[in-house]
Amino acid sequence: MRNVAGGRCSTARCQHRGVTAAGPSSQHSPISLRELDALGVERLKGVGGKKRDGLAVLGIHSVLDLLFHYPRRYVDRTREARIADLAPGEEGMFVGEVQSISSRRVRGGRAMVEARVTDGSGTMKVTFFNQGWRERQLPIGTRAVFYGKVDEFRGARQLTNPVVDLVGDRTGRILPIYPQSEKAKLSTWELADWVAESLRRIAPRGLADPVPVTVLDAHDLIGRQDAMAAIHAPESMGHMTKARSRLVFDELLRVQLALVAAKAEREATVTGVVHAVGQRASEAVSPELVDRFLTGLPFPLTGAQARAIDEIMADLECRSAMHRLLQGDVGSGKTLVAVAALLAAVQGGHQGALMAPTEVLAEQHHRGIAELLDGFVVPAPDTLLGERPLHVALLSSRLSAPQRRMVLAQLASGEIDLAVGTHSLISEGVDFASLGVAVVDEQHRFGVDQRAALTEVGEGDNQPDLLVMTATPIPRTAAMTVYGDLDVSTLDELPPGRTPIVTHWAQTPLEVEVVWQQVRDEVAAGRQAYVVCPLVEESEKLEVASAETTREELAAGELEGLRLGLLHGRVVADEGDATMAAFRAGELDVLVATTVIEVGVDVPNATVMVILDADRFGIAQLHQLRGRVGRGTAKSSCWLVSAEPSDDGEQRISAMVRTTDGFELAEVDLDLRGEGTLMGERQKGRNDLRLASLRRDREWVVKARAVATDLLAQAGSLADLGGLADEVDLILGQDEVGYLMKG
Ligand code: ADP
Ligand code: MG
Repeated sequence: MRNVAGGRCSTARCQHRGVTAAGPSSQHSPISLRELDALGVERLKGVGGKKRDGLAVLGIHSVLDLLFHYPRRYVDRTREARIADLAPGEEGMFVGEVQSISSRRVRGGRAMVEARVTDGSGTMKVTFFNQGWRERQLPIGTRAVFYGKVDEFRGARQLTNPVVDLVGDRTGRILPIYPQSEKAKLSTWELADWVAESLRRIAPRGLADPVPVTVLDAHDLIGRQDAMAAIHAPESMGHMTKARSRLVFDELLRVQLALVAAKAEREATVTGVVHAVGQRASEAVSPELVDRFLTGLPFPLTGAQARAIDEIMADLECRSAMHRLLQGDVGSGKTLVAVAALLAAVQGGHQGALMAPTEVLAEQHHRGIAELLDGFVVPAPDTLLGERPLHVALLSSRLSAPQRRMVLAQLASGEIDLAVGTHSLISEGVDFASLGVAVVDEQHRFGVDQRAALTEVGEGDNQPDLLVMTATPIPRTAAMTVYGDLDVSTLDELPPGRTPIVTHWAQTPLEVEVVWQQVRDEVAAGRQAYVVCPLVEESEKLEVASAETTREELAAGELEGLRLGLLHGRVVADEGDATMAAFRAGELDVLVATTVIEVGVDVPNATVMVILDADRFGIAQLHQLRGRVGRGTAKSSCWLVSAEPSDDGEQRISAMVRTTDGFELAEVDLDLRGEGTLMGERQKGRNDLRLASLRRDREWVVKARAVATDLLAQAGSLADLGGLADEVDLILGQDEVGYLMKG
């Protein structure tokens, strides 16, 4: 299997290096980020020995690192008050000198530190609780900025637990406060001084700005040198905001350039199968498969499904290999879309493969798809009738050795049309006659490496077209970054006629009593329920124990007399199957489980979902778990049990109660957690975002994407973008580009 993308990539990088080496190194041209990266911090005044080690602790080795170490916040001294003027009840900020400081233990052994601070106009008592270290931070004579709300204690004004910034005797209206680490032992003004020195020394040549002026003008962005100076030493907060916008734009532009370029490169070089889609395709071996499947459904497609299928078919007809993400909420009907894509492969005489993250899900998919395609036939010229049934096979790790050998032989000969399995489908020794379309379900459980391996199963120079599906929707702008090198189809519409799931928060013992009553009532009415046990982070063993205990307690208490099953990660495969099968067959009333049932489990008769200690789960997980009910026509409910949630926990629970829309929940999740946790695998290495936030800077993500697309279209390739290309290479680095190319 040739590795087109990889080969091209390294060639491009070599050429690109050449440009850099011969590029601007003249003393008079503006200084590039690469040059700044080559300048060690020891070139700055006073940086040696301990100071250099301290900077290294902060990850600062070069002048570029230093400039990229942005202030965490700013002290706006234009808003400074005099101590004498601060009245109780007011929020205020003042700069003062520590006159005295002492600490003692108060009730409960807590440390209390008391200081007197003066600014010439008056003195203020400042009290810290549980912050014993303040005594060391604020020795007598220290000048610092104090902010907080003034209160009154026994007739005297005081500030309790204020925010404190050490500013030294710096002057200036707005002082930057840098991220610190106690280990680094560097003050914020030392950092500010080195930054100022760097900027002073850069000034004669100026800082290179590779973003075209037309782009800057169009988006009302200031120049880079101006921005770099103003983010570190702004004249006003307004100026700082403009500086931030410019630097945020730069970060996002680099990421988007890498993503858009990787995508374009792949489209230009990686070829896939040209599939026989619809009637247009004369070479179709069995041209009616997709049509027959879609028209034979007992319900019309949703608009979103029809749109996604059109997008996929258009990709499949193309010479370049498809890399598409299908994101759709739980129950939005992704399976049908996937089956249509797989059938397009079969229709042209190729094979399709569907990979699920677990054996249970693979089996479920296999069963479902075999049912959907029951009665479908494909041409078989050497048979009497000239056709044979379409063959959907399961490749599971549980097959016996002879069974497995047979499936492998049939995959290699082409007798199997659609294969369903887990990672085992792409393991060593699996050989397809002609794999045309591969679908990966629930991609967040699937490693990037596995997806890469899948594309290597292709035939000759052709890679299979790839569709990845995820039921964890993420906001559009976040998707642009997290999945920026993929095309995205979105199912943003649920099939009609679903009875919405009603979600409740059960907090008090009385409310929890109602939950179990509900479970008993539904079971009495012939329905079934899930009870999900508390998540035990980092210990599967404890999690299992908690599930076992929960089941025993329920069996002996609230749910006495009901048939309870138990499912968790340590139940051995066969036993787990038997439990699932029994639940599906209605031989169990309640399934007590851990999050193993999070994805895909589909039992339409289950109408109640109880999640214990719901505040411990993330929003995406709660949403997935809730998606296990409401799959039939009966009214379903979800009960989130949590007695004392944390603030965040309570916000997650309220969001769940408020809406069942996965995209809306994804926005809430992004707001609560920030982007760092969006999706592990794909985030790796993409850490150029120092200032930019996928949450706060949504509009800039969209703009950067558009600019990256335009610039690449004009230039032809990333390498032709000169300075910008060099920055992408420098800052996102080899790992990132290599990683993107793997896709
Ligand atoms: P998910 O996106 O969660 O994988 P599925 O593909 O499992 O969703 O579909 C959920 C259920 O909705 C299935 O029972 C499926 O048959 C049904 N379904 C899918 N598309 C439609 C539609 N257009 N109209 C009605 N029901 C549909
Ligand atoms: Mg599904």
